Amino acid sequence: MTATNAAGWRPAMGDTGAGADKRPTTSGDYGLMLEEPLSFELGGDGKCGVDLDQPERTPLAGLPLRKAAPDLPGLTEPETVRHYTRLSRQNYAIDLGPFPLGSCTMKHNPRLNEKVARLPGFADVHPLQPQQSVIGALEVISELADWLVTLTGMSAVAMSPKAGAHGELCGLLCIRAAIEARGETRDVVLVPESAHGTNPATAAFAGFKVESIPATAEGRVDLEALKSKLGPNVAGVMITNPNTCGLFEPDMKAIADAVHAAGGYVYCDGANFNAVVGKVRPGDLGVDAMHINLHKTFSTPHGGGGPGAGPVVLSEALAPYAPLPFVTRDADGQVRLIEEETAGEDHPSTFGRMVAFHGQMGMFTRALAYILSHGADGLRQVAEDAVLNANYVLRSVEDVLNAPFAASGPCMHEALFSDQGFADGLSTLDVAKGLIDEGFHPMTVYFPLVVHGAMLVEPTETESKAGLDRFIGSLRSLAERARNGDEALHSAPHYAPRRRLDETLAARKPVLVWKGAPAPSGSPSLTEIGDR
Ligand SMILES: *Cc1c(COP(=O)(O)O)cnc(C)c1O
Repeated sequence: MTATNAAGWRPAMGDTGAGADKRPTTSGDYGLMLEEPLSFELGGDGKCGVDLDQPERTPLAGLPLRKAAPDLPGLTEPETVRHYTRLSRQNYAIDLGPFPLGSCTMKHNPRLNEKVARLPGFADVHPLQPQQSVIGALEVISELADWLVTLTGMSAVAMSPKAGAHGELCGLLCIRAAIEARGETRDVVLVPESAHGTNPATAAFAGFKVESIPATAEGRVDLEALKSKLGPNVAGVMITNPNTCGLFEPDMKAIADAVHAAGGYVYCDGANFNAVVGKVRPGDLGVDAMHINLHKTFSTPHGGGGPGAGPVVLSEALAPYAPLPFVTRDADGQVRLIEEETAGEDHPSTFGRMVAFHGQMGMFTRALAYILSHGADGLRQVAEDAVLNANYVLRSVEDVLNAPFAASGPCMHEALFSDQGFADGLSTLDVAKGLIDEGFHPMTVYFPLVVHGAMLVEPTETESKAGLDRFIGSLRSLAERARNGDEALHSAPHYAPRRRLDETLAARKPVLVWKGAPAPSGSPSLTEIGDR
């Protein structure tokens, strides 16, 4: 099929018949797939959506005054509403279909959470309000903290870190403080090859040298290789469990015992806790510190870099070094916020403070609403359904899409595939882009790095069998097209508002300036980045 004809027309949505490219629409819209220019391109000609009063006072002498009117888009209210509504239709959303993004864990986000998080007593509090006026909010933090400690079987939790990566830093700073308190210096952190990029980045940021631990052929940490690296310079290991291949690390206890025997600490990347919540307590596996991505395990919508929350649960050995501030409960049951490192107070060994205030209140409220509405049995079922859904996808596709670790048993919450068996010239990216034409958000691609052309599929625990079957049908057909060398796949997506874009160029040299205004020299134009 021809993507565009000489005049630059694209065939209408779904129109793949002969001569499709000769049947363009005049408006550029295809049925309900709407084109939309920039607001600056729409507006102009002196229109304004608001009536502004003339300033009453003459400006103070000496102030620099604007010589020309600001270059704002001139849109009426209905034009503005349409502009953003039309743009929003070009977005894929969790309310439209599944987000199979492995490693990102797109949770079910019940509307109840949103309602609770918007209650004025939680949504409108100010971090500098007197404590006595925010006791309810402190109760939420404290109750959520109790749940996190109980579910993980750990001693304490630092609630303030603002994301998973921030939580990793918190955990490593606790480890560093504990080692310094023993009067030792240890400067190496061991990280498996399959780790999320944040793990080695965090270790380096916290001042450690990173050494990598190889994976076994089954996609797990190589225990013997790890043991051979332990020594008096090793501060600890960072292990993800379940790991980023979607597999449980069965040697976790043996790893922890070996690391402890060598005087190190065990950091667990808990981003995948949704696969084991209610089933496994990391504290029982010898973990010393683990962040919990509230936005991955306990709902909270996330994307585009935020918002998130990364509380860190800590073992007895690391709890004394947890950061300030934190919420505690006095003997009489009253919650209290410990803000300062006061002499004689309960927390003399803290490594310090990571954030200005107390953490992400909106995330805390959503996570607690999610936990309380599921209950302990419901949380266990969340893990079971997530694992069941991922295994259903794995077993329904593995005959057409190579699944490198499928032979070693069931996966956890995500199913990992590779590009092995694709015809020459066709790649993981082509399958991902093909999913867009099929009406699905692509899966995570090219991660983890230990698998060539990786495709990591994580179905949300709430997807129905019928929904999964639709996704599986599309994925199977795309896998077959990739094996059979269907060249059309190489230029997918064909039916999206935008075609195959040069994402690298767009990321490296983003055009952030309206092209009506002078662009900084050297920036590519929109057309350079645009459709191939
Ligand atoms: C998401 C993720 C992280 C980082 O969490 P953020 O909240 O995005 O900072 C770390 N490790 C793993 C395995 C993850 O999936």
